[in-house]
Amino acid sequence: MTDPHRDPRSTSEPDVRRYLVGLIGDGIGASLTPPMHEAEALELGLDYEYRIFDLIELGRPATDVGAILAEARSAGFAAMNITHPCKQLVLEIVDELDTDAARLGAVNLVVFDGDRLLGYNTDWMGFRDGLVAGLPGASLDHVVQIGCGGAGAATAYALLSQGAEHLGLSDSDSVRAEELAARMRRHFPGQTVHTIEPDELADAIAGATGVVHATPMGMLHHPGVAFDLDLLRPGTWVSDVVYRPLETELINQAAERGHPVLDGGRMAVGQAWASLRIITGIEPDRERMQHSFRELIAAEERHAASEGNPR
Ligand code: NAD
Repeated sequence: MTDPHRDPRSTSEPDVRRYLVGLIGDGIGASLTPPMHEAEALELGLDYEYRIFDLIELGRPATDVGAILAEARSAGFAAMNITHPCKQLVLEIVDELDTDAARLGAVNLVVFDGDRLLGYNTDWMGFRDGLVAGLPGASLDHVVQIGCGGAGAATAYALLSQGAEHLGLSDSDSVRAEELAARMRRHFPGQTVHTIEPDELADAIAGATGVVHATPMGMLHHPGVAFDLDLLRPGTWVSDVVYRPLETELINQAAERGHPVLDGGRMAVGQAWASLRIITGIEPDRERMQHSFRELIAAEERHAASEGNPR
């Protein structure tokens, strides 16, 4: 579009920085991160393109992530988001690691600064910001978290950063729970982080002031709820990291019973908001991003329903 304020005699182009950004991961063709970034960048008046590097489609192993980053840097990319299964691999590849990313042990954003690769983690920021905005005043006295994988590392770190006093970690793979608990204890020595065995989960839920669900249960192909909601005390808040669908069985049932709830959308938008901010140095509009994300999800759900595949 022609800028009406531009001198028509001028031959030089206006000084607009071009941002080329990408996402590396497995099976990410349908990721909502590219449209989220691009829609907000457009609103901010940026020349911004977001590309997908799906390892499965490229036929490349996860261990190629370093080579793909080098290729992207040479091609002029400004930054790359990183997702499953490369978040830990990138820890060893970057030249500089943000303190929080080092502590929680995962990188989901690499920024190219000349020859240097700077690693960040914005997943935990997304959960933290969602918790603060979506569940203001939530009690963090006794929080139970189910699921200690990639998302769970970010939520545990965010909960402890926000001052959770007692955090109980549960996972069907007890080694994962133990490893995450050990990592968190190192960085939050003044707070209690303990693991919960499957046969202790009911008691832990009954004593919780908040429950975070961070397993894939509730997704289209993993239906169900990871714990019995009858165990919750009145007023206990419930948070789900799953966002496809946004209204998981857990979120719906908890809300019906009157519990304060936080769906996975806030975390998903929050990580994109924080990534966009780090990449561009410009403050994106969080509410506008929330709105466009929820429209994208709604369109996806309408499409699934029209295909006879209701979510
Ligand atoms: P992951 O595979 O790294 O971790 C999942 C963990 O849950 C594993 O440790 C597994 O052992 C455990 N688990 C599975 N079923 C369980 C059960 N019934 N009870 C107890 N533990 C169980 O996966 P992830 O990357 O952490 O993703 C988990 C979910 O979070 C996915 O649905 C993903 O889409 C979602 N996610 C959301 C966001 C967001 O921004 N909202 C970000 C990342 C991931």
